[in-house]
Amino acid sequence: MFFRRLAKDAWISFGDRMKSDSRIRYGALAAISGGVSTCYVFSSSNLVYLDQPNEDGAPKVALNPDKWIEFKLQDKVQASHNSQLFRFSFDPSAKLGLDVASCIITRAPMGQNAEGKTKYVIRPYTPISDPNAKGYFDLLIKVYPEGKMSQHFASLKPGDVVEVKGPIEKLRYSPNMKKHIGMIAGGTGITPMLQIIDAILKNPDDNTQVSLLYANVSPDDILLKKKLDVLAASNPNLKIFYTVDNPTKDWLGGKGYISKDMVVKGLPSPSDDTLILVCGPPGLMKHISGDKAKDRSQGQLTGILKELGYTEDMVYKF
Ligand SMILES: Cc1cc2nc3c(=O)[nH]c(=O)nc-3n(C[C@H](O)[C@H](O)[C@H](O)COP(=O)(O)OP(=O)(O)OC[C@H]3O[C@@H](n4cnc5c(N)ncnc54)[C@H](O)[C@@H]3O)c2cc1C
Repeated sequence: MFFRRLAKDAWISFGDRMKSDSRIRYGALAAISGGVSTCYVFSSSNLVYLDQPNEDGAPKVALNPDKWIEFKLQDKVQASHNSQLFRFSFDPSAKLGLDVASCIITRAPMGQNAEGKTKYVIRPYTPISDPNAKGYFDLLIKVYPEGKMSQHFASLKPGDVVEVKGPIEKLRYSPNMKKHIGMIAGGTGITPMLQIIDAILKNPDDNTQVSLLYANVSPDDILLKKKLDVLAASNPNLKIFYTVDNPTKDWLGGKGYISKDMVVKGLPSPSDDTLILVCGPPGLMKHISGDKAKDRSQGQLTGILKELGYTEDMVYKF
């Protein structure tokens, strides 16, 4: 049942795995509530502690920006040949507590330092599940052969936990803040774009036009293509153009790196009504917009976008 739900949400086909019995065992979730405070525990350890709702009745949230909280892996599925989709669960009556567009930071123990203290590897990730979803969040993670954290994620089994802190707000999206949003994403750089696309498309009062240029190494590397294609086919305000370095014979999209021509044809022209979002590996950032500064501020705008007349206030680098 869970696989079907995750597959439906993520538009991934699970094949034989759908047959396995992987129902989440909510029996293991013991909810202890009483008096003025509410504390939810999974099984024996304090996985998710939820403060009582605010006095103004604001919904309970699972994340805490000041505290590492353990989230339990509910399940994971292969999303492409080198990326996996992970679903983490928490109290089913709470939301994660994340505004669009935000990321979370994760940490995992990696050995000990000279004084015998636990060393941690810490990496940010961008949830792609609906921020209003209760009881779970999803991460789409590319697994690098030498990647410390992504290999750690790949080694996790259902029931294992990851420590999470957040949210960290990147760009505060508000409906109709711009008439036309252009997006340039490479590989897993699609994750913050998905947060914003989902926020726009699920809001009938948001009239923002969205144009996405999505670059990958090969057609097989395109993440969540099925979901993106269905969204574009059913929402006239979403246009997507894919380009790959290594096309197959029957590939109908663009070929090679994102070019000036692709930007001119596919994205809104420079204007006060335009915002271009960029997220991808360092090579793509350098080519398109220049990378962020060392202190993680936006840094100078360079690259194709600068050459085409966009200004710094028209571009946001994730
Ligand atoms: C704000 C933010 C949000 C992010 N959201 C996501 C997300 O939703 N999903 C996701 O998969 N990642 C995301 N990332 C990237 C993520 O934080 C890690 O950097 C990534 O998972 C690699 O970490 P690692 O520890 O596995 O690899 P590391 O141990 O840091 O690197 C080991 C080796 O892996 C390879 N490698 C690592 N990163 C890259 C790269 N970007 N391009 C090419 N080779 C690389 C290199 O060979 C490197 O030497 C995000 C990054 C930021 C800054």
